Amino acid sequence: MAYDDQNIFAKILRGEIPAIKVYEDDRVLAFMDIMPQAEGHTLVIPKAKAITLLDLPAEDAAYTIQIVQKVARAIETALDAKGIVLMQLSGEAAGQTVPHVHFHLVPSSIHKMRQHAAEMGDVEKIKANAEKIKAAL
Ligand code: 5GP
Repeated sequence: MAYDDQNIFAKILRGEIPAIKVYEDDRVLAFMDIMPQAEGHTLVIPKAKAITLLDLPAEDAAYTIQIVQKVARAIETALDAKGIVLMQLSGEAAGQTVPHVHFHLVPSSIHKMRQHAAEMGDVEKIKANAEKIKAAL
């Protein structure tokens, strides 16, 4: 499957649609999930045009996981998270809904998370969580 430049995360990366960002550098962007499965649900995406983890160049994967760890630490500090679920869905068959590779950081328990990509979150709450995470980064 070819990478679709019109996918929603490609548009966020180009600044065509807004996102509540917590971290950005030349290779990675982290922003808040708009349909959070728990308070503080954050997405970390490499800027490389890859659909799944399987077609992400190893160097980008290695760098992105470092930022995943950095953001996870900030979430732990900012939200006093007792546990964080790291989730990565590769392929529609796995439930992936946005065809640009991304890592979910969900400060919750696998047993308590809300349904995946199901319900819009409260934007004011999401922004407040983002501010706390940014401050901890
Ligand atoms: P996937 O199903 O591909 O693993 O996860 C896609 C994630 O992106 C879901 O958790 C969904 O809530 C989130 N999402 C979908 N559209 C948008 C959007 O426009 N903005 C943001 N910030 N998150 C989105």
